Amino acid sequence: MGENSCIFCDIITRKLPHANVYEDINFVVLMDKYPINRGHALIIPKTHYDNLLLMPRNEVGRLYSLVPSIAAAIVTSVKADGFNVGQNNGRAANQIVPHVHVHIIPRFNDDCPNGRWPMRRVASHEELLKIADGIKRLLNPTLVNRE
Ligand SMILES: [Zn+2]
Repeated sequence: MGENSCIFCDIITRKLPHANVYEDINFVVLMDKYPINRGHALIIPKTHYDNLLLMPRNEVGRLYSLVPSIAAAIVTSVKADGFNVGQNNGRAANQIVPHVHVHIIPRFNDDCPNGRWPMRRVASHEELLKIADGIKRLLNPTLVNRE
């Protein structure tokens, strides 16, 4: 399953600390350590796939079916004005961790006046835990995981 040195596989098997927002049998949602904006989260399949093309199509469907519920909780929690959904495949596409993940990035009016992405920054673990807590409170697991 997991590769030898995959940071997401390590996080998923709880070898590394992380700020968790949601977890079910197939997926975890956690806060990005290098957020573009406050509330930037990642939806990650527990099974390791290097990229989206290697993932069974029905699992891709399940992965994306989580997006609206998670995004709604994030947007409400951090009072965002909008959000981006991003999924990078391959180095050329700026995929840093070769384990499939979907970015949910809250956006704020005028968060980047030059029209580019806001700068990523390093968030403290305490800060991420606090934001994760706020999002978790708005997530109803029975609503998220309808199958
Ligand atoms: Zn992995």
